[in-house]
Amino acid sequence: MQDQLAALRKQFQSELAAVQNSKEVEQLKVKYLGKKGPVQDLMQHLRNASADQRPLLGQQINDLKEEFAHLCQMALESYSKAELAHRLQEEKIDISMPGRRKSLGRGHPIMQMMDEIIQIFVSMGFSVQYGPDIDSDYYNYEGLNFPPDHPARDMQDTFYITKEILLRSHTSNTQLRVMENHKPPIRIIAPGTVYRNETISSRSHVFFHQVEGLYIDKNVSFADLFATMDEFCNKLFQTKVQTRYRPSYFPFVEPGLELDVACTACAGKGCRLCKQSGWLEILGAGMVHPEVLKNGGVDPETHSGFAWGMGVERLTMLRYGIKDIRMFTENDFRFLEQFA
Ligand SMILES: [Zn+2]
Repeated sequence: MQDQLAALRKQFQSELAAVQNSKEVEQLKVKYLGKKGPVQDLMQHLRNASADQRPLLGQQINDLKEEFAHLCQMALESYSKAELAHRLQEEKIDISMPGRRKSLGRGHPIMQMMDEIIQIFVSMGFSVQYGPDIDSDYYNYEGLNFPPDHPARDMQDTFYITKEILLRSHTSNTQLRVMENHKPPIRIIAPGTVYRNETISSRSHVFFHQVEGLYIDKNVSFADLFATMDEFCNKLFQTKVQTRYRPSYFPFVEPGLELDVACTACAGKGCRLCKQSGWLEILGAGMVHPEVLKNGGVDPETHSGFAWGMGVERLTMLRYGIKDIRMFTENDFRFLEQFA
């Protein structure tokens, strides 16, 4: 029995000397001191020993057990300390290191301009409505007083999907939908993308953006149109700008007109931006045609209104002196990052 104890101690010591980390110490402890381990085995053998030897042997096995447990505990503490120190070293944060600069995204210049236009009209009491990009001929043309084969349809080269379905050529397709669903007073703007079947060049593209506006109530007059548009221009250019209105023709308004502002680059003297005219064309507008009001379920005898539409690309090009509309869709980072 004494030999067995000595052999076990020796074996344990040599195995303990070979462990590499705290996990292996735990395994060793289970192996020797666990329920199926050699120390427990010796306890079983104690029954076979003679009665006079039993107390001494029991004491010796108990001592061995405590010795193993103690040695394991010592080894465990030392490995745990080293392992923790190692982990702390690996996970150390150098607070003196310079941080990584976060690269913030920004809005596309067209969306920035669109947001600005929306904010101005919202501050004037207008709400925002959206119409569909794919629409019927009725909402885009016929209901807006463009009968089939009307020459005014040729003003806008249209992408037709079928004879009746098309990509909207202007945001005016929102007008009738709003009138059908809301009783006057109506004060809305409708921003969105529009599509034209045109050759792409520095001045025209197959898609661009517009903001439509519609104001219908009792006794809405030309004076209201002028006041609203003048106020918009002052806010957009952040100064009191001179405006002028020229007669124009759009089938869905009567009368129709175009709004110019005094050139912001030369103050009306004439320069390259305004093509020496001293004026910049900003938008088209007019009093809503009685036929359009009727189509929208509004009685032209009791109500009147005005509508307008502006090109977002055009306003952005005027503000920044951009000469080629294709710049907006080329995604050249050198161009885009100038619009912080
Ligand atoms: Zn000018």
